[in-house]
Amino acid sequence: TEETLYNRLFQNVPNPDKVFLETPEGRTLTYEEVQAGAARVANALVELGVEPGDRVAVQVEKTPEALLLYLGTIRAGAVYLPLNTGYTLAELAYFLGDATPTVVVCDPQARDEIAGLPEARSVRAIETLDAAGQGSLADRMARQSGAFDTVPRARDDLASILYTSGTTGRSKGAMLSQHNLASNAEILVDSWRITADDTLIHALPFFHTHGLFVATNTLLMAGGSVFFLSKFDAETVIRLMPRATMLMGVPTHYTRLLAHDSFTRDVTRGMRLFISGSAPLLAETHRAFSERTGHAILERYGMTEISMTSSNPYDGERRPGTVGFPLPGTELRVVDPETGQPRATGEVGVIEVRGPHVFKGYWQMPDKTAAEFRADGFFITGDLGKIDEDGYVHIVGRDKDLIISGGFNVYPKEVETEIDALEGVSESAVFGVPHPDFGEGVTAVVVRKDGASISEEEVLNALEDKLARYKQPKRAFFVDELPRNTMGKVQKNILRESYDALYQ
Ligand code: ATP
Ligand code: MG
Repeated sequence: TEETLYNRLFQNVPNPDKVFLETPEGRTLTYEEVQAGAARVANALVELGVEPGDRVAVQVEKTPEALLLYLGTIRAGAVYLPLNTGYTLAELAYFLGDATPTVVVCDPQARDEIAGLPEARSVRAIETLDAAGQGSLADRMARQSGAFDTVPRARDDLASILYTSGTTGRSKGAMLSQHNLASNAEILVDSWRITADDTLIHALPFFHTHGLFVATNTLLMAGGSVFFLSKFDAETVIRLMPRATMLMGVPTHYTRLLAHDSFTRDVTRGMRLFISGSAPLLAETHRAFSERTGHAILERYGMTEISMTSSNPYDGERRPGTVGFPLPGTELRVVDPETGQPRATGEVGVIEVRGPHVFKGYWQMPDKTAAEFRADGFFITGDLGKIDEDGYVHIVGRDKDLIISGGFNVYPKEVETEIDALEGVSESAVFGVPHPDFGEGVTAVVVRKDGASISEEEVLNALEDKLARYKQPKRAFFVDELPRNTMGKVQKNILRESYDALYQ
Protein backbone atom coordinates (compact mmCIF):
# COMPACT_ATOMS: atom_id res chain seq x y z
CA THR A 1 0.00 0.00 0.00
CA GLU A 2 2.91 2.35 0.67
CA GLU A 3 3.64 2.06 -3.03
CA THR A 4 0.31 3.47 -4.18
CA LEU A 5 0.28 6.86 -5.80
CA TYR A 6 -2.45 7.91 -3.38
CA ASN A 7 -0.41 7.17 -0.29
CA ARG A 8 2.70 8.73 -1.75
CA LEU A 9 0.77 11.92 -2.50
CA PHE A 10 -0.29 12.22 1.11
CA GLN A 11 2.98 11.19 2.74
CA ASN A 12 3.84 14.73 3.90
CA VAL A 13 0.54 16.12 5.13
CA PRO A 14 1.75 18.89 7.41
CA ASN A 15 -1.37 19.05 9.56
CA PRO A 16 -4.84 17.82 8.64
CA ASP A 17 -6.36 21.25 9.25
CA LYS A 18 -4.10 22.94 6.76
CA VAL A 19 -5.96 24.30 3.75
CA PHE A 20 -4.89 22.51 0.57
CA LEU A 21 -7.26 24.16 -1.85
CA GLU A 22 -8.91 27.56 -2.05
CA THR A 23 -11.07 28.85 -4.87
CA PRO A 24 -11.19 32.51 -5.95
CA GLU A 25 -14.71 32.57 -4.48
CA GLY A 26 -13.23 31.70 -1.10
CA ARG A 27 -14.27 28.07 -0.81
CA THR A 28 -11.62 25.98 0.97
CA LEU A 29 -10.75 22.32 1.48
CA THR A 30 -8.32 21.23 4.17
CA TYR A 31 -6.07 18.21 3.75
CA GLU A 32 -8.46 16.31 5.98
CA GLU A 33 -11.42 17.32 3.85
CA VAL A 34 -9.59 16.37 0.67
CA GLN A 35 -8.85 12.91 2.04
CA ALA A 36 -12.38 12.46 3.35
CA GLY A 37 -13.75 13.62 -0.01
CA ALA A 38 -11.53 11.15 -1.82
CA ALA A 39 -12.83 8.44 0.52
CA ARG A 40 -16.43 9.39 -0.33
CA VAL A 41 -15.66 9.15 -4.02
CA ALA A 42 -13.91 5.81 -3.53
CA ASN A 43 -16.87 4.46 -1.55
CA ALA A 44 -19.27 5.73 -4.21
CA LEU A 45 -17.29 4.05 -6.97
CA VAL A 46 -17.19 0.76 -5.09
CA GLU A 47 -20.96 1.03 -4.62
CA LEU A 48 -21.28 1.46 -8.39
CA GLY A 49 -19.36 -1.75 -8.93
CA VAL A 50 -15.95 -0.34 -9.80
CA GLU A 51 -13.16 -2.81 -9.23
CA PRO A 52 -9.42 -2.23 -9.12
CA GLY A 53 -8.09 -1.69 -12.64
CA ASP A 54 -11.46 -0.53 -13.99
CA ARG A 55 -11.47 2.73 -15.90
CA VAL A 56 -13.41 5.73 -14.67
CA ALA A 57 -13.87 8.15 -17.56
CA VAL A 58 -14.42 11.77 -16.63
CA GLN A 59 -15.46 14.75 -18.72
CA VAL A 60 -16.34 17.52 -16.29
CA GLU A 61 -15.59 21.17 -15.65
CA LYS A 62 -12.75 21.98 -13.30
CA THR A 63 -14.12 22.11 -9.75
CA PRO A 64 -12.87 20.97 -6.35
CA GLU A 65 -15.13 17.92 -6.82
CA ALA A 66 -13.17 17.01 -9.97
CA LEU A 67 -10.01 16.96 -7.86
CA LEU A 68 -11.72 14.68 -5.34
CA LEU A 69 -12.86 12.47 -8.18
CA TYR A 70 -9.29 12.04 -9.39
CA LEU A 71 -8.01 11.25 -5.92
CA GLY A 72 -10.93 8.99 -5.01
CA THR A 73 -10.54 7.02 -8.23
CA ILE A 74 -6.91 6.20 -7.62
CA ARG A 75 -7.67 5.54 -3.95
CA ALA A 76 -10.18 2.88 -5.05
CA GLY A 77 -7.46 1.29 -7.20
CA ALA A 78 -9.26 2.28 -10.38
CA VAL A 79 -7.76 3.98 -13.42
CA TYR A 80 -8.48 7.69 -13.86
CA LEU A 81 -9.30 8.64 -17.41
CA PRO A 82 -9.92 12.36 -17.86
CA LEU A 83 -11.19 13.79 -21.12
CA ASN A 84 -10.89 17.26 -22.59
CA THR A 85 -14.07 19.22 -21.89
CA GLY A 86 -13.92 20.43 -25.49
CA TYR A 87 -14.49 16.98 -26.96
CA THR A 88 -17.74 16.57 -28.87
CA LEU A 89 -20.04 13.60 -28.47
CA ALA A 90 -18.55 11.98 -31.58
CA GLU A 91 -15.06 12.32 -30.16
CA LEU A 92 -16.22 11.02 -26.83
CA ALA A 93 -17.63 7.94 -28.52
CA TYR A 94 -14.14 7.01 -29.69
CA PHE A 95 -12.64 7.33 -26.22
CA LEU A 96 -15.40 5.36 -24.54
CA GLY A 97 -15.23 2.60 -27.13
CA ASP A 98 -11.46 2.50 -26.84
CA ALA A 99 -11.11 2.62 -23.06
CA THR A 100 -14.26 0.65 -22.09
CA PRO A 101 -14.78 2.42 -18.75
CA THR A 102 -17.07 1.01 -16.06
CA VAL A 103 -18.21 4.42 -14.90
CA VAL A 104 -18.51 7.72 -16.76
CA VAL A 105 -18.80 11.03 -14.97
CA CYS A 106 -20.02 13.88 -17.17
CA ASP A 107 -21.91 17.14 -17.18
CA PRO A 108 -25.64 16.65 -16.46
CA GLN A 109 -26.46 18.02 -19.91
CA ALA A 110 -24.44 15.32 -21.68
CA ARG A 111 -25.81 12.42 -19.67
CA ASP A 112 -28.58 11.19 -21.95
CA GLU A 113 -26.58 11.53 -25.13
CA ILE A 114 -23.72 9.52 -23.66
CA ALA A 115 -26.13 6.88 -22.38
CA GLY A 116 -27.37 6.46 -25.96
CA LEU A 117 -23.93 5.85 -27.48
CA PRO A 118 -23.35 2.31 -28.74
CA GLU A 119 -19.69 2.81 -27.75
CA ALA A 120 -20.78 3.14 -24.10
CA ARG A 121 -21.64 -0.57 -23.89
CA SER A 122 -19.08 -1.21 -21.13
CA VAL A 123 -20.50 1.57 -18.96
CA ARG A 124 -22.44 0.41 -15.92
CA ALA A 125 -23.19 3.81 -14.46
CA ILE A 126 -23.18 7.39 -15.66
CA GLU A 127 -22.86 9.96 -12.91
CA THR A 128 -22.94 13.73 -13.24
CA LEU A 129 -21.05 16.75 -11.96
CA ASP A 130 -21.74 20.26 -13.18
CA ALA A 131 -19.64 23.42 -13.22
CA ALA A 132 -20.69 24.10 -9.63
CA GLY A 133 -19.63 20.63 -8.49
CA GLN A 134 -23.27 19.53 -8.13
CA GLY A 135 -24.84 16.44 -9.63
CA SER A 136 -25.62 12.82 -9.00
CA LEU A 137 -22.04 12.03 -8.03
CA ALA A 138 -22.00 14.80 -5.43
CA ASP A 139 -25.31 13.48 -4.07
CA ARG A 140 -23.95 9.96 -3.92
CA MET A 141 -20.77 11.17 -2.21
CA ALA A 142 -22.81 12.91 0.45
CA ARG A 143 -24.27 9.54 1.47
CA GLN A 144 -20.87 7.85 1.86
CA SER A 145 -18.44 7.46 4.71
CA GLY A 146 -15.39 9.72 4.82
CA ALA A 147 -13.16 6.75 5.61
CA PHE A 148 -11.80 4.26 3.11
CA ASP A 149 -8.97 1.74 3.15
CA THR A 150 -6.84 2.67 0.16
CA VAL A 151 -6.81 -0.28 -2.22
CA PRO A 152 -3.32 -1.79 -2.39
CA ARG A 153 -1.64 -1.50 -5.77
CA ALA A 154 1.73 -2.56 -7.08
CA ARG A 155 4.14 -0.01 -8.50
CA ASP A 156 3.43 -1.05 -12.08
CA ASP A 157 -0.35 -1.08 -11.76
CA LEU A 158 -2.07 1.65 -13.70
CA ALA A 159 -3.21 4.84 -12.03
CA SER A 160 -4.34 6.62 -15.17
CA ILE A 161 -4.89 6.35 -18.86
CA LEU A 162 -4.24 9.80 -20.18
CA TYR A 163 -4.93 10.54 -23.81
CA THR A 164 -2.37 12.63 -25.66
CA SER A 165 -3.46 16.02 -26.94
CA GLY A 166 -3.99 14.85 -30.51
CA THR A 167 -1.81 17.59 -31.96
CA THR A 168 -0.28 15.32 -34.58
CA GLY A 169 -3.08 12.82 -35.13
CA ARG A 170 -5.58 10.73 -33.24
CA SER A 171 -5.04 10.81 -29.47
CA LYS A 172 -3.40 7.76 -27.97
CA GLY A 173 -4.11 6.49 -24.45
CA ALA A 174 -0.89 6.56 -22.45
CA MET A 175 -0.91 3.98 -19.66
CA LEU A 176 0.63 5.57 -16.58
CA SER A 177 1.48 3.51 -13.52
CA GLN A 178 1.42 4.37 -9.84
CA HIS A 179 5.20 4.64 -9.83
CA ASN A 180 5.40 6.57 -13.12
CA LEU A 181 3.42 9.40 -11.58
CA ALA A 182 4.65 9.25 -7.99
CA SER A 183 8.34 9.12 -8.93
CA ASN A 184 7.95 12.08 -11.27
CA ALA A 185 6.19 14.18 -8.64
CA GLU A 186 8.92 13.38 -6.10
CA ILE A 187 11.62 14.50 -8.48
CA LEU A 188 9.82 17.72 -9.34
CA VAL A 189 9.22 18.58 -5.69
CA ASP A 190 12.93 18.23 -5.17
CA SER A 191 14.09 19.96 -8.33
CA TRP A 192 11.77 22.93 -7.95
CA ARG A 193 12.20 23.09 -4.14
CA ILE A 194 8.49 22.89 -3.48
CA THR A 195 7.65 22.95 0.24
CA ALA A 196 4.69 23.27 2.60
CA ASP A 197 5.24 27.04 2.43
CA ASP A 198 4.28 27.12 -1.25
CA THR A 199 0.98 28.23 -2.69
CA LEU A 200 0.53 27.55 -6.39
CA ILE A 201 -1.90 29.36 -8.63
CA HIS A 202 -3.53 26.40 -10.36
CA ALA A 203 -5.14 27.81 -13.49
CA LEU A 204 -4.45 24.95 -15.92
CA PRO A 205 -7.02 22.53 -17.33
CA PHE A 206 -7.54 19.49 -15.15
CA PHE A 207 -7.61 16.91 -17.96
CA HIS A 208 -4.03 17.27 -19.19
CA THR A 209 -0.79 16.10 -17.58
CA HIS A 210 0.33 19.66 -16.82
CA GLY A 211 -2.60 20.66 -14.58
CA LEU A 212 -3.70 17.22 -13.49
CA PHE A 213 -0.40 15.69 -12.47
CA VAL A 214 2.43 18.22 -12.52
CA ALA A 215 0.57 21.02 -10.76
CA THR A 216 -1.55 18.91 -8.42
CA ASN A 217 0.64 15.98 -7.41
CA THR A 218 3.67 18.10 -6.55
CA LEU A 219 1.84 20.50 -4.26
CA LEU A 220 0.02 17.67 -2.48
CA MET A 221 3.22 15.76 -2.03
CA ALA A 222 5.02 18.79 -0.64
CA GLY A 223 2.19 19.59 1.76
CA GLY A 224 1.63 22.96 0.07
CA SER A 225 -1.56 24.55 -1.17
CA VAL A 226 -3.22 25.72 -4.35
CA PHE A 227 -5.54 28.44 -5.54
CA PHE A 228 -7.82 26.37 -7.72
CA LEU A 229 -9.16 28.42 -10.65
CA SER A 230 -11.77 26.95 -12.97
CA LYS A 231 -9.84 28.48 -15.86
CA PHE A 232 -7.00 30.85 -16.58
CA ASP A 233 -8.18 34.42 -16.20
CA ALA A 234 -5.36 36.97 -16.13
CA GLU A 235 -7.17 39.38 -13.81
CA THR A 236 -7.94 36.71 -11.23
CA VAL A 237 -4.39 35.41 -11.43
CA ILE A 238 -3.00 38.91 -10.87
CA ARG A 239 -5.38 39.51 -7.98
CA LEU A 240 -4.32 36.29 -6.20
CA MET A 241 -0.62 36.57 -6.93
CA PRO A 242 0.36 38.58 -3.84
CA ARG A 243 -0.88 35.62 -1.77
CA ALA A 244 0.89 32.96 -3.86
CA THR A 245 4.45 31.76 -4.40
CA MET A 246 4.28 29.75 -7.65
CA LEU A 247 2.60 29.71 -11.02
CA MET A 248 2.65 26.97 -13.64
CA GLY A 249 1.45 28.07 -17.05
CA VAL A 250 1.56 27.48 -20.75
CA PRO A 251 3.33 30.13 -22.83
CA THR A 252 0.11 31.92 -23.79
CA HIS A 253 -0.61 32.48 -20.08
CA TYR A 254 2.62 34.43 -19.80
CA THR A 255 1.91 36.56 -22.85
CA ARG A 256 -1.58 37.24 -21.50
CA LEU A 257 -0.19 38.36 -18.16
CA LEU A 258 2.31 40.62 -19.91
CA ALA A 259 -0.55 42.20 -21.87
CA HIS A 260 -1.94 43.60 -18.59
CA ASP A 261 -0.50 46.87 -17.30
CA SER A 262 -1.55 45.87 -13.81
CA PHE A 263 0.90 42.96 -13.99
CA THR A 264 3.87 44.67 -12.35
CA ARG A 265 7.04 43.83 -10.50
CA ASP A 266 5.21 44.70 -7.32
CA VAL A 267 2.50 42.11 -7.94
CA THR A 268 5.14 39.38 -8.33
CA ARG A 269 7.25 40.40 -5.35
CA GLY A 270 6.22 37.48 -3.16
CA MET A 271 6.48 34.93 -5.96
CA ARG A 272 9.20 32.32 -5.84
CA LEU A 273 8.85 30.51 -9.14
CA PHE A 274 7.19 30.80 -12.55
CA ILE A 275 7.21 27.61 -14.62
CA SER A 276 6.30 27.22 -18.29
CA GLY A 277 5.72 24.17 -20.45
CA SER A 278 3.45 22.23 -22.85
CA ALA A 279 4.54 24.36 -25.79
CA PRO A 280 7.69 26.35 -26.63
CA LEU A 281 8.13 29.61 -24.75
CA LEU A 282 9.45 32.28 -27.08
CA ALA A 283 12.82 33.61 -25.96
CA GLU A 284 11.30 37.05 -26.38
CA THR A 285 8.53 36.30 -23.89
CA HIS A 286 11.14 35.03 -21.45
CA ARG A 287 13.09 38.28 -21.76
CA ALA A 288 10.04 40.54 -21.61
CA PHE A 289 8.93 38.71 -18.47
CA SER A 290 12.31 39.15 -16.80
CA GLU A 291 12.32 42.83 -17.65
CA ARG A 292 8.85 43.39 -16.26
CA THR A 293 9.11 41.29 -13.10
CA GLY A 294 12.74 40.45 -12.40
CA HIS A 295 11.81 36.73 -12.51
CA ALA A 296 13.36 34.30 -14.99
CA ILE A 297 10.66 31.86 -16.12
CA LEU A 298 11.76 28.26 -15.62
CA GLU A 299 10.94 26.32 -18.78
CA ARG A 300 10.61 22.56 -18.68
CA TYR A 301 9.73 19.84 -21.18
CA GLY A 302 7.41 16.90 -20.90
CA MET A 303 4.81 14.77 -22.60
CA THR A 304 1.71 12.84 -21.62
CA GLU A 305 3.68 9.62 -22.03
CA ILE A 306 6.66 10.51 -19.87
CA SER A 307 5.47 13.29 -17.58
CA MET A 308 8.25 15.82 -17.01
CA THR A 309 11.62 14.90 -18.36
CA SER A 310 13.86 17.95 -18.51
CA SER A 311 13.93 21.26 -16.71
CA ASN A 312 15.92 24.42 -16.52
CA PRO A 313 17.81 24.62 -13.24
CA TYR A 314 16.37 26.09 -10.07
CA ASP A 315 19.78 27.50 -9.26
CA GLY A 316 21.86 28.54 -12.21
CA GLU A 317 21.07 29.95 -15.59
CA ARG A 318 17.54 29.44 -16.93
CA ARG A 319 18.42 29.70 -20.56
CA PRO A 320 15.71 31.19 -22.80
CA GLY A 321 14.73 29.00 -25.72
CA THR A 322 15.90 25.82 -24.00
CA VAL A 323 14.24 23.22 -21.79
CA GLY A 324 17.25 22.79 -19.53
CA PHE A 325 18.79 19.53 -18.37
CA PRO A 326 17.38 16.00 -18.04
CA LEU A 327 15.77 15.62 -14.60
CA PRO A 328 17.48 13.33 -12.08
CA GLY A 329 16.73 9.71 -12.97
CA THR A 330 16.00 10.57 -16.59
CA GLU A 331 18.30 9.39 -19.34
CA LEU A 332 17.89 11.57 -22.41
CA ARG A 333 19.71 11.15 -25.70
CA VAL A 334 19.53 12.68 -29.16
CA VAL A 335 19.91 10.19 -31.99
CA ASP A 336 19.68 9.79 -35.72
CA PRO A 337 16.03 8.83 -36.28
CA GLU A 338 16.90 6.19 -38.88
CA THR A 339 19.93 4.46 -37.39
CA GLY A 340 19.49 5.24 -33.69
CA GLN A 341 23.13 6.37 -33.56
CA PRO A 342 23.87 9.18 -31.06
CA ARG A 343 24.23 12.67 -32.51
CA ALA A 344 27.22 14.85 -31.72
CA THR A 345 26.82 17.87 -29.46
CA GLY A 346 24.80 20.58 -31.20
CA GLU A 347 23.46 18.27 -33.92
CA VAL A 348 19.73 17.82 -34.35
CA GLY A 349 18.14 14.41 -33.94
CA VAL A 350 15.19 12.73 -32.30
CA ILE A 351 14.97 12.86 -28.51
CA GLU A 352 14.75 9.53 -26.70
CA VAL A 353 14.10 9.07 -23.01
CA ARG A 354 14.37 6.30 -20.43
CA GLY A 355 13.52 6.35 -16.74
CA PRO A 356 10.98 5.48 -14.05
CA HIS A 357 8.55 8.06 -15.42
CA VAL A 358 8.29 6.50 -18.88
CA PHE A 359 4.78 5.10 -19.47
CA LYS A 360 3.79 1.45 -19.83
CA GLY A 361 2.68 1.71 -23.44
CA TYR A 362 -0.31 2.86 -25.45
CA TRP A 363 -3.62 1.40 -24.36
CA GLN A 364 -4.64 -1.37 -26.74
CA MET A 365 -2.00 -0.39 -29.31
CA PRO A 366 0.74 -3.01 -28.95
CA ASP A 367 2.13 -2.33 -32.42
CA LYS A 368 2.30 1.41 -31.90
CA THR A 369 3.90 0.84 -28.51
CA ALA A 370 6.51 -1.50 -29.97
CA ALA A 371 7.30 0.97 -32.73
CA GLU A 372 7.91 3.83 -30.29
CA PHE A 373 10.40 1.99 -28.06
CA ARG A 374 13.99 0.99 -28.80
CA ALA A 375 15.17 -2.47 -27.79
CA ASP A 376 17.09 -0.95 -24.87
CA GLY A 377 13.94 0.58 -23.40
CA PHE A 378 14.31 4.15 -24.61
CA PHE A 379 11.05 5.83 -25.67
CA ILE A 380 11.23 7.65 -28.99
CA THR A 381 9.52 10.96 -28.22
CA GLY A 382 9.08 12.15 -31.80
CA ASP A 383 10.45 15.54 -30.78
CA LEU A 384 13.52 16.82 -32.58
CA GLY A 385 16.16 18.50 -30.52
CA LYS A 386 19.79 19.00 -29.75
CA ILE A 387 22.01 19.27 -26.71
CA ASP A 388 24.33 22.27 -26.64
CA GLU A 389 27.90 22.35 -25.36
CA ASP A 390 26.68 23.26 -21.87
CA GLY A 391 24.24 20.36 -21.77
CA TYR A 392 21.04 22.36 -22.26
CA VAL A 393 18.39 20.56 -24.29
CA HIS A 394 16.82 22.52 -27.15
CA ILE A 395 13.56 21.42 -28.78
CA VAL A 396 13.48 22.33 -32.46
CA GLY A 397 10.09 20.84 -33.30
CA ARG A 398 8.41 17.54 -33.92
CA ASP A 399 9.62 15.01 -36.47
CA LYS A 400 6.13 15.11 -37.99
CA ASP A 401 6.54 18.85 -38.58
CA LEU A 402 9.96 18.51 -40.20
CA ILE A 403 9.85 19.91 -43.73
CA ILE A 404 11.73 18.19 -46.51
CA SER A 405 12.17 20.63 -49.35
CA GLY A 406 14.20 19.68 -52.41
CA GLY A 407 15.63 16.80 -50.41
CA PHE A 408 16.88 19.02 -47.59
CA ASN A 409 15.66 18.99 -43.99
CA VAL A 410 14.21 22.28 -42.84
CA TYR A 411 13.57 22.67 -39.12
CA PRO A 412 10.61 25.02 -38.73
CA LYS A 413 11.91 26.46 -35.46
CA GLU A 414 15.04 27.82 -37.13
CA VAL A 415 12.97 29.67 -39.71
CA GLU A 416 10.43 30.85 -37.11
CA THR A 417 13.21 32.25 -34.94
CA GLU A 418 14.45 34.39 -37.84
CA ILE A 419 10.98 35.61 -38.72
CA ASP A 420 10.11 36.37 -35.09
CA ALA A 421 13.24 38.53 -34.82
CA LEU A 422 12.01 40.85 -37.59
CA GLU A 423 10.77 44.31 -36.70
CA GLY A 424 6.97 44.30 -36.58
CA VAL A 425 6.57 40.55 -36.13
CA SER A 426 4.95 39.15 -33.02
CA GLU A 427 5.17 35.44 -33.84
CA SER A 428 5.06 32.95 -36.67
CA ALA A 429 4.56 29.35 -37.64
CA VAL A 430 6.43 27.61 -40.44
CA PHE A 431 5.23 24.40 -42.06
CA GLY A 432 5.49 22.41 -45.27
CA VAL A 433 2.80 21.85 -47.87
CA PRO A 434 2.95 19.74 -51.04
CA HIS A 435 4.97 21.35 -53.83
CA PRO A 436 5.34 19.92 -57.35
CA ASP A 437 9.08 20.68 -57.66
CA PHE A 438 10.35 20.54 -54.11
CA GLY A 439 8.21 17.84 -52.54
CA GLU A 440 7.26 20.28 -49.81
CA GLY A 441 7.28 24.06 -49.98
CA VAL A 442 8.33 25.99 -46.90
CA THR A 443 5.43 28.24 -45.92
CA ALA A 444 4.96 30.77 -43.12
CA VAL A 445 2.07 32.39 -41.36
CA VAL A 446 2.97 35.52 -39.46
CA VAL A 447 1.26 37.52 -36.73
CA ARG A 448 2.14 41.21 -36.87
CA LYS A 449 2.79 43.27 -33.76
CA ASP A 450 -0.02 45.71 -32.95
CA GLY A 451 0.10 48.57 -35.44
CA ALA A 452 2.92 47.06 -37.53
CA SER A 453 2.57 46.91 -41.31
CA ILE A 454 5.35 44.57 -42.42
CA SER A 455 4.49 42.98 -45.79
CA GLU A 456 5.03 39.51 -47.27
CA GLU A 457 7.73 40.88 -49.53
CA GLU A 458 9.55 42.46 -46.61
CA VAL A 459 9.45 39.21 -44.65
CA LEU A 460 10.76 37.17 -47.59
CA ASN A 461 13.45 39.71 -48.51
CA ALA A 462 14.67 40.01 -44.94
CA LEU A 463 15.29 36.27 -44.77
CA GLU A 464 17.38 36.16 -47.95
CA ASP A 465 20.71 36.81 -46.30
CA LYS A 466 19.81 35.05 -43.06
CA LEU A 467 18.83 31.56 -44.23
CA ALA A 468 20.04 29.20 -46.94
CA ARG A 469 17.80 29.37 -49.97
CA TYR A 470 16.14 25.99 -49.38
CA LYS A 471 15.04 27.13 -45.90
CA GLN A 472 13.48 30.36 -47.07
CA PRO A 473 9.68 30.35 -47.12
CA LYS A 474 8.18 30.55 -50.58
CA ARG A 475 5.16 32.38 -49.27
CA ALA A 476 4.28 34.21 -46.06
CA PHE A 477 0.71 34.98 -45.02
CA PHE A 478 -0.56 37.22 -42.26
CA VAL A 479 -3.03 36.02 -39.67
CA ASP A 480 -4.51 37.61 -36.55
CA GLU A 481 -3.51 34.69 -34.41
CA LEU A 482 -1.99 31.23 -34.76
CA PRO A 483 -4.37 28.28 -34.41
CA ARG A 484 -3.77 26.93 -30.92
CA ASN A 485 -5.35 24.26 -28.76
CA THR A 486 -6.21 24.71 -25.08
CA MET A 487 -2.65 23.94 -24.04
CA GLY A 488 -1.28 26.72 -26.24
CA LYS A 489 0.13 24.32 -28.82
CA VAL A 490 0.22 25.59 -32.39
CA GLN A 491 -1.84 23.22 -34.54
CA LYS A 492 0.33 22.80 -37.60
CA ASN A 493 -1.91 20.08 -38.99
CA ILE A 494 -4.64 22.73 -39.35
CA LEU A 495 -2.20 25.06 -41.13
CA ARG A 496 -1.06 22.28 -43.45
CA GLU A 497 -4.67 21.49 -44.30
CA SER A 498 -5.66 25.11 -44.91
CA TYR A 499 -2.76 25.77 -47.28
CA ASP A 500 -2.73 22.30 -48.81
CA ALA A 501 -3.40 23.41 -52.41
CA LEU A 502 -1.15 26.47 -52.34
CA TYR A 503 1.50 25.31 -54.79
CA GLN A 504 -0.65 22.96 -56.86
P1 ATP B 1 -0.16 14.00 -29.81
O1 ATP B 1 0.91 13.15 -29.24
O2 ATP B 1 -1.51 13.37 -29.65
O3 ATP B 1 0.10 14.48 -31.18
P2 ATP B 1 0.86 16.14 -28.12
O4 ATP B 1 2.19 15.52 -28.35
O5 ATP B 1 0.73 17.60 -28.38
O6 ATP B 1 -0.28 15.36 -28.92
P3 ATP B 1 1.09 16.24 -25.26
O7 ATP B 1 1.57 14.99 -24.65
O8 ATP B 1 0.10 17.06 -24.54
O9 ATP B 1 0.41 15.87 -26.63
O10 ATP B 1 2.30 17.19 -25.59
C1 ATP B 1 3.64 16.79 -25.56
C2 ATP B 1 4.42 17.60 -26.55
O11 ATP B 1 4.38 18.98 -26.21
C3 ATP B 1 5.87 17.25 -26.60
O12 ATP B 1 6.12 16.09 -27.36
C4 ATP B 1 6.47 18.51 -27.22
O13 ATP B 1 6.35 18.49 -28.63
C5 ATP B 1 5.58 19.61 -26.67
N1 ATP B 1 6.21 20.33 -25.54
C6 ATP B 1 6.01 20.19 -24.23
N2 ATP B 1 6.77 21.04 -23.52
C7 ATP B 1 7.48 21.76 -24.42
C8 ATP B 1 8.44 22.80 -24.33
N3 ATP B 1 8.80 23.32 -23.17
N4 ATP B 1 8.96 23.29 -25.49
C9 ATP B 1 8.59 22.77 -26.68
N5 ATP B 1 7.69 21.81 -26.83
C10 ATP B 1 7.13 21.30 -25.71
MG1 MG C 1 2.75 13.53 -28.52
